[in-house]
Amino acid sequence: PHVVEFRSVTKTYNPGGGNEFTAIRDVTFVVQDLVDKGEFVGILGPSGSGKSTILRLIAGLRPQFPPTSGEVLVFGRPVERPGPDRGMVFQDYTSFDHRNVLDNVAFGLECRGVPRKVRYEVAREWIANVGLSVAKDQYKYPHELSGGMRQRVAIAQTLILRPRIILMDEPFGALDPMTRMNMQDLLIDLWRRTQATVFFVTHSIEEAVFLSDRIYVVSNSPGTILRELTIEPSDRPS
Ligand code: ADP
Ligand code: ADP
Repeated sequence: PHVVEFRSVTKTYNPGGGNEFTAIRDVTFVVQDLVDKGEFVGILGPSGSGKSTILRLIAGLRPQFPPTSGEVLVFGRPVERPGPDRGMVFQDYTSFDHRNVLDNVAFGLECRGVPRKVRYEVAREWIANVGLSVAKDQYKYPHELSGGMRQRVAIAQTLILRPRIILMDEPFGALDPMTRMNMQDLLIDLWRRTQATVFFVTHSIEEAVFLSDRIYVVSNSPGTILRELTIEPSDRPS
């Protein structure tokens, strides 16, 4: 089956209410399962064009988040709830303030009942994988970290569970330009190693072109896919 398929998906918030709002209308696309390699899919559009709504539909984030009409399929099945095949990274740092880096990164394994020694061992590998220092950073708390470091923790926290689909909602939107460039390089490097399919929401054209194999350009009012762009390596700024 396809990794993700949208079939004429429309999502209306508060249907029938006074503040009814159609965030996306009639969105159709397919992201295929390529052997041994997930695609990096950029979702590019202005604020309010329904980008996050598309991600939330794939994630099944809230218990009641079905499309208003149409179908959202993940690995061929309608999305009903979040699952271990999908991991999410948000713009605002989602680590727990009262947990240190090690316990934040190990959190998902803890929830799965992985014994402490094993989960700390795996978490330390991931702390290193995202470019943090085990020696210097593992016992720090989020308030002692820079924005870029906190996003590294958030990425480790998500990737340690090895999701096949990684959903990223403007993960670098709050970072300064230099930090953002470093994070983009890190993400590409990690993605090549994970073989996961990535959906990356951004309103930066440069960021979408730099990162993506393919870009869906979303327009406003209501959100529809305006066009689909395939980025060849030769199109990329070097
Ligand atoms: P984007 O990620 O492109 O900024 P969103 O998917 O977050 O867009 O939102 C698309 C539109 O849907 C926005 O205009 C937003 O105000 C509206 N919207 C989002 N969530 C809700 C909600 N829970 N209730 C009502 N309207 C919402
Ligand atoms: P495997 O690749 O088969 O999981 P590892 O040597 O990587 O083997 O890990 C040893 C143990 O640690 C496994 O039995 C598994 O329970 C646990 N483990 C390692 N990585 C993860 C992970 N990302 N998610 C859940 N459990 C993990």
